[in-house]
Amino acid sequence: MRTAGQKMTNKIKSYLEMGRELISSLLFPARCPVCDEILEPEDVKKGIHPACENKLYPILGAVCMHCGRPIGDDNPFSKEYEYESTKEYCYDCVAKGYDKQSSIRQAKALYLYKGAIKTSMYRFKYSNKREYARFFAKYAVKRYGAWMRRMGIEVIVPVPMYLPKQKKRGYNQAECFANEISKRIAIPTDVNMVRRVMDTAPQKGLGEKQRKNNLKNAFQKGKNVVQYSCAMVVDDIYTTGSTAEAVAQELIKQGTHRVYLMTICIGGDM
Ligand SMILES: [Zn+2]
Ligand SMILES: [Zn+2]
Repeated sequence: MRTAGQKMTNKIKSYLEMGRELISSLLFPARCPVCDEILEPEDVKKGIHPACENKLYPILGAVCMHCGRPIGDDNPFSKEYEYESTKEYCYDCVAKGYDKQSSIRQAKALYLYKGAIKTSMYRFKYSNKREYARFFAKYAVKRYGAWMRRMGIEVIVPVPMYLPKQKKRGYNQAECFANEISKRIAIPTDVNMVRRVMDTAPQKGLGEKQRKNNLKNAFQKGKNVVQYSCAMVVDDIYTTGSTAEAVAQELIKQGTHRVYLMTICIGGDM
């Protein structure tokens, strides 16, 4: 039975939460994640202009069982016709052997990294547009909330940034995304499980071997003491999957049994 004292504490907590929401909406008014204009009241609930939403490519239909990339006829990237992909996995996952062995059990992505979302992701990452996380998290929970519960996710782990870099930028966009998902589905975010101890060079343009070497020692155990058996790593973009893979490996080393992944978007150009 709850005591009067507990009830009072909960009331205070909910007022504090409301206050925090109000301050954050004043500091970071809802903006459309596509055109970046401040949203009119009628569009705030949706979090995006309907016309702008049409410029996004949500991932629907058949996807790769590992990375969540569209496969087969749903793949809008024409290259698919140049290679043989299995029915279940995309070419990229088969080439990397992720269909047979990966620290990530399964990954889900919300949108294709194509068209308008590219500038959106750029602003989200580099121009302090952390408020975009709300829209993406809302959609993530709508699309994959049931999946997260079914998989038994106990904790959300954002891909960590190298701390000096994060201090300079002021935030980690993956952490913003994680926190907004967390609020909506009541699964905690833990930023202390894994830390990035090295600033890895941009992964783009590097060969597979170089990427792996780069990432091998980039992540280490953080200072957390809580053990979870099932975690979901989150990030903004899935490019090669190797960063998330390295984070997942670290989690497994720490005793996490199952690791899943969710990204806002996934590239198709391989
Ligand atoms: Zn817009
Ligand atoms: Zn795949």
